[in-house]
Amino acid sequence: MTDQRIFNFNAGPAALPLKVLKDIQSSFLNFNQSGMSVTEISHRSVYFDDVINDAVERAKRLLKLDDRFHVLFLQGGASMQFAMMPMNLLSGDDSADFVNTGTWSTKAIKEAEILKKNFKVVASSEDKNFSYIPKDIEFSNDAKYVHLTSNNTIKGTQFNEFPDTNGIPILCDMSSDIFSRPLDMDKFGLIYAGAQKNLGPSGTCMVIIRQDVLDMANDDLPSMLKYSTYAAKNSMYNTPPCFGIYTIDLVLKWIEEDMGGLEKVEQHNIKKADLLYDCIDSSSFYKTTAEKYSRSLMNVTFRLPSEDLEKQFVAKAIDSGFGGLKGHRSVGGCRASIYNAATLESIQALVQFMEVFEKENK
Ligand SMILES: *Cc1c(COP(=O)(O)O)cnc(C)c1O
Repeated sequence: MTDQRIFNFNAGPAALPLKVLKDIQSSFLNFNQSGMSVTEISHRSVYFDDVINDAVERAKRLLKLDDRFHVLFLQGGASMQFAMMPMNLLSGDDSADFVNTGTWSTKAIKEAEILKKNFKVVASSEDKNFSYIPKDIEFSNDAKYVHLTSNNTIKGTQFNEFPDTNGIPILCDMSSDIFSRPLDMDKFGLIYAGAQKNLGPSGTCMVIIRQDVLDMANDDLPSMLKYSTYAAKNSMYNTPPCFGIYTIDLVLKWIEEDMGGLEKVEQHNIKKADLLYDCIDSSSFYKTTAEKYSRSLMNVTFRLPSEDLEKQFVAKAIDSGFGGLKGHRSVGGCRASIYNAATLESIQALVQFMEVFEKENK
């Protein structure tokens, strides 16, 4: 236990910018002179309209989205999207292409299977325990869409560039790297992200969908499972996750106004990741688990010489004020999640800790 804030390397829910947390704290009892907390106001009020519209506008500016794109806020996490995409976009003989780069891609594929949709897994890195991103992928000519996971939170790999799909829209799970870098949005028909990695609290999923993809959608679905319901009502067909949207708005404001936009954010993220990978590469004690060209800027996964040392490392880290360094329960090892909100100072401190731990245990 501690009464200080720790260096938080959690994978998700994850660290948020301190400035955002302070903003929330200072306006929590009286939001915008409303006399109410943001968690107490009506989602039909002008107060909340301002919040959701600001969040949408900021997302559009940051990603340079044109009018074809809708920015939506849904519930059910990224996991709900695994089902909503095939439900909405595949009918009859339609088929989709999937690239399998780890746990989350696998889960997305499973939902298409449960729904008895046609699909093809056109590439997979399962042969090497998902330690790399497949290259030179051949997509099906008749695929309605291609599904990718841009950053593999658990395996520590990331698409550094997106494949050419010959105009087939890419639908992309960007839960753990949305707003971490600029994107060429021409390639994407839909991107989505559970908020709890890089955007805000859990319970909200941001979905950005292009009009032509929206136009492909099946109509014979329950209202809450149709993208068109959200697009028609500015995400307020029912009560939206208000607090989540509010926090996302503050995070996007921080990216725009404090960080200076996505180019700057990307440079900052590269600098942070380089520090950590340099520390690992220059040691024979630590080893990354991802192949070099596929390494993630967001989730740095690494191993120590033995599981016993990994246990000691994680325990000592906690005692020294570093949290969240244990790898995902499905893979073991260690992982530092260094999303946008992780500061350069926190990584410098971690590198120092790792160097001392290596000296003491070599
Ligand atoms: C965490 C994560 C998910 C799951 O998100 P939920 O919001 O819990 O459903 C899906 N995809 C990726 C890439 C993730 O990192």
